Amino acid sequence: MSVPSKVRITRRLFLQGSSFAVAVAWFGRLFSVRLPERLASWGIPTPWYQSGPVETTFTVCDMCPWRCGIIVSTVAGKVHKIEGNPDDPKSRGKLCARGQGGVSFLNDPDRLMTPLIRTGERGSGEFREASWEEALDYVAESMIEIRDEVGPESVAFLGHTSGDAWFVDHLAQAWGSPNAARPSSSLCTSPREEAALLTVGRVIGGHEPVDWDEIEAFALIGSHVGEDTRNTVMQDFSAARARGAKVIVVDPRFSTAASKADHWLPIRPGTDTALLLAWMHVLIAEDLYDGAYLDAWASGFDELAAHVAEFSPEWAAPITDLTADQIRTTARVLGGSLPKAAIVPGRHVTWYGNDTQRMRAVYLVNSLLGAWGRAGGLYLPKSPYIEAFPHPPYAVAGSSGGCSAEPGEESTELPLGPSGKARADGVRDTFLRGPTAIQELIPPMITGNPYPIKALIAFGINMFHSLPDQARTKEALKALDLVVAIDVLPQGHVAWADVVLPEATYLERADDLWTVAHKTPYIAIRDAATEPMGNTKPGWWIAHQLGTRLGLDAYFGWETIDEWNDTRLRSIGQSLEKVRAMGGVIIQEGKPYLDNYEGGAPFPTVSGTIELVSETLSESGFDGLPVYEPPEPPPEGFYRLLYGRHPAHTFAKTQNTPMLSGLFPENELWLADAEAERFGVDSGDLVMLTNQTGATSGPIRIKATQGIRRDAVYMVHGYGHDAKGLTRANGRGASDAALQTRYALDPISGGAGLRINFVRLERVS
Ligand code: SF4
Repeated sequence: MSVPSKVRITRRLFLQGSSFAVAVAWFGRLFSVRLPERLASWGIPTPWYQSGPVETTFTVCDMCPWRCGIIVSTVAGKVHKIEGNPDDPKSRGKLCARGQGGVSFLNDPDRLMTPLIRTGERGSGEFREASWEEALDYVAESMIEIRDEVGPESVAFLGHTSGDAWFVDHLAQAWGSPNAARPSSSLCTSPREEAALLTVGRVIGGHEPVDWDEIEAFALIGSHVGEDTRNTVMQDFSAARARGAKVIVVDPRFSTAASKADHWLPIRPGTDTALLLAWMHVLIAEDLYDGAYLDAWASGFDELAAHVAEFSPEWAAPITDLTADQIRTTARVLGGSLPKAAIVPGRHVTWYGNDTQRMRAVYLVNSLLGAWGRAGGLYLPKSPYIEAFPHPPYAVAGSSGGCSAEPGEESTELPLGPSGKARADGVRDTFLRGPTAIQELIPPMITGNPYPIKALIAFGINMFHSLPDQARTKEALKALDLVVAIDVLPQGHVAWADVVLPEATYLERADDLWTVAHKTPYIAIRDAATEPMGNTKPGWWIAHQLGTRLGLDAYFGWETIDEWNDTRLRSIGQSLEKVRAMGGVIIQEGKPYLDNYEGGAPFPTVSGTIELVSETLSESGFDGLPVYEPPEPPPEGFYRLLYGRHPAHTFAKTQNTPMLSGLFPENELWLADAEAERFGVDSGDLVMLTNQTGATSGPIRIKATQGIRRDAVYMVHGYGHDAKGLTRANGRGASDAALQTRYALDPISGGAGLRINFVRLERVS
């Protein structure tokens, strides 16, 4: 090492250096000579990383469904630290607060620890402990009895979060029930997926294919990046913003994303389609669309141009409560950057019941911009190549709408379910298309129409905080012959189960491979970092035990999850051991753009083009082009109930996690400060909320703010738990779900629009 030319070694510098060297030597000796014992002798606790050999496990976070790759550090089998896996395309070495909260979730003292069998009334929460043998026998015998009496379709399988595929896909399809569903479909994304299939012939999928690397202008419509803290999207949003991409945020509320935007459009709730039609009008009228792209890839441009000719910004302004100038300016921002511009497909898009048509309008704007399959627009994701674990054809096709399901086999002789896919009487369902709509499975549990659903297997789903109309859900739970809850925590609906099967957390269980359709398709392994606590078991093991008891051995021809994963990995010349050694992730090559796309038609619609006009819709009695439908306004004295996320929490799942509860223990009600003044309340005051049919929730504290329109209030979802076993979350804040007593059914996708509920406030003295 050379000495910099301007530094002269003086006597003083030399002595300082000598002292430093002595100090380094002394500390070196200190650290090398049994540091834990030395520190302990001084009363200082031993740091965890000094208390034994540190082992690392490559696996996948499950604190939210985004599933970033993580590295978990353990000492003597105890989990101490979780970091992002730098090789993982989602985490890229970083985690959000919830991901960091995984150790706290693992150690939550409220966790379910042993199987339980009900002793009191349903809902009383009175149980006795049982062995796994007894609990599993009870469930399997009851299912067989119900099947023999009514049929396999009378067992419904509901699930959420990773591991649900063992029940909602594999077990349900092997057993023969089409009544399997997830809230992540009809209560969240199904309209955007149906609209995408209708328009470009491909789904959006779990990882929205926004080409953040090169995008130059983008719009978010009701999409809360920064509060909905999907790790990768926050990184991408920040990077795009930092390199100068223009940001438009359309939201009735001044969200975190709005605070970073160039243009915030505080739109009147429910009028987004009017804005989108006006944007299309401007793009076409001002020649800000990609004509050559549309000629090459799309059909129906002339009809679309004629359709939007009357929807000028002046037409949309009074509807949306925006100015014509705002509408025109923002359309020009998008059009001025084409094709490196797009409206980001939102995630939770079940709002008003006409959501597939609104999402069609979003995709038509993206089509005019030439965004699909273009660098800086929306890339064409590809699934990683890997084979399924071999088993016989399923008894029934999957319709659960999951994005982590194993590739399904063709089948079924059995009828589809009452929710949108199949009927026992063979009558075509009322929905044009779409996966099973979870909320539509509840009425048959109560009425027996069109055929009875007698049993429910609920995996990881929070029934009271995800499904609308809690009273109806409780009525259904009362009416069933068998209710099984498989869960980590004693969530509210667990008290209504006949049998509770305690699942190990994601840090204690291996799971199926995580295969992600992506710009660079990839596969990540999901390994256990530690042993399951108490008498908990992994979901795959529970499904396996049930499956073999149900006589479905042929579908469970493997003994361990390692055998399952290793067999799958060997289909691509890999092995579990090799992937563990190489850091837990296999990345394959993508072909994300039209100019290098391989693998058949890039837009596999009926016509093989981007269908600006949908013949499929018009032939089925729906509008082939989206039209604006005015939403029902709030009644006098009521506000529209809006809801969203907090960056430290996931759905209703993490409010009890000690570390995350500490960050944001209860939600608050955003109320326009002019309304707060009119009502005589201020920030911190408590109010109760009552909806249009008298359902109540709260108390909740007011957040008086300029950041929301006067006709709406907003709260973070997932609070107001009524579950005594959740000692930190129980009774904290208000529940938006308790106030969502009605929904607007989207007749195309089966989605349940939840933004049609209104609340009034009552002061709590
Ligand atoms: S976004 Fe956060 S909680 Fe979700 S998987 Fe990634 S690190 Fe985990």
